[in-house]
Amino acid sequence: MKPKEIPHEILFCNAKTRDGTPCRNHPLKGKTRCKLHGGMSTGAKTPEGKERQRLAILKDGQYTREAQEKRKMFTDFHKACMALIMQMSVIEN
Ligand SMILES: [Zn+2]
Repeated sequence: MKPKEIPHEILFCNAKTRDGTPCRNHPLKGKTRCKLHGGMSTGAKTPEGKERQRLAILKDGQYTREAQEKRKMFTDFHKACMALIMQMSVIEN
């Protein structure tokens, strides 16, 4: 019987503890190790999965690189305009 066919609740983690005794936790479903010994997912591998992960944690996009660059561009433009207005007011007076 393969590890995936046996219910994970009756199995034990394959890892060995620092004492040298076997780990007594149950492995994660479909895995041979518990969450503390490498049973957890190591993250998305495919570009589609990575994109799905990126979109899942994105809230409003206010801090994306594009949004920050756009904000900086507007700020720089505003500063340049204000400097020009100040120069014109100095020349007029
Ligand atoms: Zn373990």
